[in-house]
Amino acid sequence: MPSPSESRRAKQSRRAGEFPPAPEPLAVPVFDSHTHLDLTVQEAGVPGEGTGDPVEALITAAAKSGVDRLVQVGVDVDSSRWGADLADRHHAVLATVALHPNDAPRLSDLDGALREIEALAARPRVRGIGETGLDTFRTGDEGRAAQEESFRAHIAIAKRYGKALIIHDRDAHDDVLRVLDSEGAPDTVVLHCFSGDAEFAAECVRRGYYLSFAGTVTFASAGKLREAAALTPPAQMLVETDAPYLTPTPYRGRPNASYLIPLTVRTLAETQNADLDELCAAISANGDRIFGGW
Ligand SMILES: [Zn+2]
Repeated sequence: MPSPSESRRAKQSRRAGEFPPAPEPLAVPVFDSHTHLDLTVQEAGVPGEGTGDPVEALITAAAKSGVDRLVQVGVDVDSSRWGADLADRHHAVLATVALHPNDAPRLSDLDGALREIEALAARPRVRGIGETGLDTFRTGDEGRAAQEESFRAHIAIAKRYGKALIIHDRDAHDDVLRVLDSEGAPDTVVLHCFSGDAEFAAECVRRGYYLSFAGTVTFASAGKLREAAALTPPAQMLVETDAPYLTPTPYRGRPNASYLIPLTVRTLAETQNADLDELCAAISANGDRIFGGW
């Protein structure tokens, strides 16, 4: 087996050329509310002729597009710690920490892993708990109980430390609301990669949650999602990549990164019939409210 750095270099040279070209930069900067820099480098390398630190190159590419801040999202203990360390040394990065809902059922020591997440949650540049939640798409019945137990534990951590809760909800809208209601939701709730219809969006808006839209909102088939975006007030809207996944149209199938946020936020402005600059300013203000500023 090659070392991690060797396999990373191999993947980089294989796929680096597949990153889409940079879009026209935003005039008013915005932030990426949900990205995985570590997974992007592991799976796709860096855009352009990356020399030097690949994570730095991704952050720099984003800033050139007007995406001058980002939230690095953890999916397990290691990636959560990595993100917290990165946020400590990088002014443009804040971190969130969690065990991904698809992994929680597979852990031999869920309680031990949750204790490590809780320790990371106390760190000052960790501003959110996530991504956590429910995923009935990739987790069968046998894993559901552990997944829900993990979700409940993450909700409790978010409340204990006064951090935003970042929810992964895949085919589980009603169950997500049920668990939030039974635990009592934290003050700040973000539905990452919002995937519901107008009715579910209206319910989330009514509850004061934030809806974070990913590249999926640009897909031709996503009429229902654009209806949901259309009724989301700018004061409760976020934009994200979930990079390296969910690359916006017209670059589906190629790796995603924060510098492509302009494609998604322009679609959001169109669905809202809103001024792009004003929407970007509103989203940044939301980020300061949710995450406490960079
Ligand atoms: Zn994610």
